[in-house]
Amino acid sequence: MKQAVIALCSAIFLVSCATPTREQSLVNRAVDAMGGAERIAGVKTITFKGTSKYWEPEQSDAPGGESRFANESSFEGFIDAASRSSRTDIVRNFAYPAPRTFTFSEVVTPEAGYVLGVDSNGRNAQNLKSTPPAHSMSGFRLATTQRESRRAGTGQLMLAMQRSPDKVQPAADINGQPAVSFDGFIVAFDPATGLPSRVRTLDYDNIWGDVNYDMILSDWRDLGGYKVPMNRKYELAGRPVVETNLTDVRFNQSVDTARLQVPADLRTGAAKPAGRNVPYQWVMRRQFIGTYMDSDNVSFDTRGSQGLRLQEIAPGVHQIQGGTHNSLVVVMSDHLIVLDAPVTDAQSMWLVGATRAQFPGKPIRWLVLTHHHMDHAGGVRGILAEGGTLVVGQGAAAHFRRVLSAPMTRNPDLPARSFHMNPILEVPESHVMSDASGRQVIVYVMDNPHAKGMLMGWVPHARLGYVTDIWTPGPPLPPKPNPGLISVVNTVKPAGLQPEKFAGGHGSTADYQLLTRLVGP
Ligand SMILES: [Zn+2]
Repeated sequence: MKQAVIALCSAIFLVSCATPTREQSLVNRAVDAMGGAERIAGVKTITFKGTSKYWEPEQSDAPGGESRFANESSFEGFIDAASRSSRTDIVRNFAYPAPRTFTFSEVVTPEAGYVLGVDSNGRNAQNLKSTPPAHSMSGFRLATTQRESRRAGTGQLMLAMQRSPDKVQPAADINGQPAVSFDGFIVAFDPATGLPSRVRTLDYDNIWGDVNYDMILSDWRDLGGYKVPMNRKYELAGRPVVETNLTDVRFNQSVDTARLQVPADLRTGAAKPAGRNVPYQWVMRRQFIGTYMDSDNVSFDTRGSQGLRLQEIAPGVHQIQGGTHNSLVVVMSDHLIVLDAPVTDAQSMWLVGATRAQFPGKPIRWLVLTHHHMDHAGGVRGILAEGGTLVVGQGAAAHFRRVLSAPMTRNPDLPARSFHMNPILEVPESHVMSDASGRQVIVYVMDNPHAKGMLMGWVPHARLGYVTDIWTPGPPLPPKPNPGLISVVNTVKPAGLQPEKFAGGHGSTADYQLLTRLVGP
C-alpha cells in the first residue's frame, strides 16, 4: 500500500511538476493522435486480416543484384490482451526457392510459442514426429516473433513509452523526422500529424553487418476513434523486404480463446523467449523463403542432431556434417582449403576450432564460396579472420569487397575488425590451387540456373566434385533431370573430369554415376 502511494505520488509529480522532455512530448502527441491513452488502454482484443509480400535481398541471382521475390501471404488472427496471447492463421504461397504453399498457424503467449502445421522445408525433428505436424517455437523464434509483434502493435508500443517516460531517450532524426529511442526501438514521428512514422531496430545481418531494420507506417485510418496504420513497409538497410496491407482490423470483438490452446505434449519442454544474441534477421528471413530450421542453434536442429562434425569422406577431404549447411575442407601439405562458409560466423568459428585441433599448423589459406547467398556465405568473416584469400566466381569480387568493408560492430560471434587486408580472387573460368606435393583443388565457374558466378569445386586426387544448391547429393534424385542437375554434368563434361563422387553444401555425398544415369553422360 505504501509503495502504491509512493508510486502514485511520483506519477503525479511527473505529470504535474516535471516539464516533459522533447522526447516525451513526441510520445504524448503520438498517443493523442492515435486516439488517446484511455482508448488504447481499453483495447481488450484486436482481430485482423491482411496480406503480405516478401523479398529476400541476399538470395539474388547476381551478387549484389535485385532482391528475390520470395512469397505472397494472406493471414488472419486475433490478439487477446488479457492473456497477452495471439493466434495467426497464415497461407503462404512461395515463388522461391521453389513454388509451393504452406498453410499453418502461430500461437504466441508470453512464455511460449507454437507452430501448428508445416511452415518450412527445413522441418525440425519435433514437427516431423508430430501428427498432425506441429512444434513449439525455439527461444530464438519466440523472441523474434514477440519483438515483431511489439513493433507492429504501434498503439500499445506508444502507450508503453508514455508509461515509462524515463526510458524514452533522445535519438538522431531520421530523414528529417524527430526520433526517440525506447527499449531497443528507435521511433520516428511525422511532424505534421504527430503519428509514429517509422519503427527501427539496429540489427545484425550475416552478410551486410550492422543494418537498420525499419517498419514504415502509412495509410492511417480512423477505426471508431482508433488510428491504425493499414500499410506497413519493412526495409533492411533501406531495401524493401516486406509489405503488409491490413484489410480488416476490429477492436474489442469477442474472440475464441480456445483457439489459443495447443496439445499438452507440445507444451512440454517449450522454450522460453531467448534473452540475448537473438539472430533476428536469420530467424525472419529464412521464414521469408520457407526454409527456416526452427532451432536454438541456427546451424543444426537441437532436437534432432548431435551437432556439427568433421566427416572424412575421402583421403584428406572432410565434410562438415550434422547441420543444415555443409562446408568442405581439403587438407593440403601445409594449409587447408575450405569451400563455403555457411550460416554464421559461429559456425565458422566451430570449423576453425575443429580443423585447428585436427590439423595443427595448417592454417586456412583459401576460402572458396560457391555462391553469394546469405545461407552459404554468412560465415565469411569467421573463416577470413584466419587471414586467408577469398575465392569467388566471376562478377562477385566487387560485391564481397563491399561486404567486407561494411561495419560489423554488432556481430555476436566476432569482435569488430577490418577485413580490407584479405585478398579477393575472382575466378573468370577456372582456377587451380596447389601445394608443394602436387595436390590440387580446382574451381570451375558454372553456367547454372541458381546464381551468377557459381563455382563448382573439384578435388582431383579423390575424384570428388562439390556443388551447392543445384544438386543435393544423398537424398534420392528427382524422377526427371532439372536445369540444376544438367548444369553439373555440363560443367564436368567439357572440363574432361571423371568424378567418382560428389559432396554437397546440403546433403552428404553420392556417386556421380547416379547423376549421369538420370541426365545422360
Ligand atoms: Zn543458393
